[in-house]
Amino acid sequence: MTTAIVSAMHEELAALLSLMPDEARQVAAGREFWVGHLHGQEVVAVLSRIGKVAAATTATVLIERFAVKRIVFTGVAGGLAPGVKVGDVVVADSFLQHDLDASPIFPKYQVPLYGVDRFPADPGLSGQLAQAVQSALPDVRVHRGMVVSGDRFVSTTQESKALQSALPRALAVEMEGAAIAQVCHDYGVPFAAVRTISDRADDAAHGDFNRFIREVASRYSAAIVGAFLRAA
Ligand code: SAH
Repeated sequence: MTTAIVSAMHEELAALLSLMPDEARQVAAGREFWVGHLHGQEVVAVLSRIGKVAAATTATVLIERFAVKRIVFTGVAGGLAPGVKVGDVVVADSFLQHDLDASPIFPKYQVPLYGVDRFPADPGLSGQLAQAVQSALPDVRVHRGMVVSGDRFVSTTQESKALQSALPRALAVEMEGAAIAQVCHDYGVPFAAVRTISDRADDAAHGDFNRFIREVASRYSAAIVGAFLRAA
């Protein structure tokens, strides 16, 4: 049962590759896929690339070419709901594209021809991921709920406030999750995602982003993926 581990950032992928004893590089669709073992499990590790289309392509290749049986995503996101703070972790239970609007033909946010505006994460896999966060990072606050995705790095207080009032249930905003969730829905492949909150998607969002990735997020990802695979 091969698990895909999809990372958003180079630093996160590098942390995983340093723990793989036998990774073999395979190139497809211009991406490097690393096939091997991690904590004794068969895995394919890959960078998602940034944005919905890039992430959807990566997910499709993982399923079609590498026949992965489940996809786990680790990355960072901006906190939206008031209690979701920098350094907290969000495990998604559903995903919505906040920049999808085919109204008036379809209701705002609805994915045309699917009849829904959100795709669920796999409940079993998400539960395992949440447990992995708790065992790897017992002092970190974990939230579970809706994550919204769009092709924008949200970095103004004005846009963040607008998103919060339009989508009050959204815990966090990022740029890939809803796209991968839709691909996984199409193929019937279980998907779960964990995001460390790197910023509050506000006027200060650019500030310490890169430092946070290096010093916190990549360490968290490796610890969470480790606990997840050891328990699997
Ligand atoms: N400055 C970074 C930009 C990365 S884009 C760089 O040079 O690499 C941001 C990435 O983090 C995306 O993969 C997205 O999923 C996530 N992310 C973190 N905070 C975000 C925010 N406020 N809005 C949108 N995406 C965010």
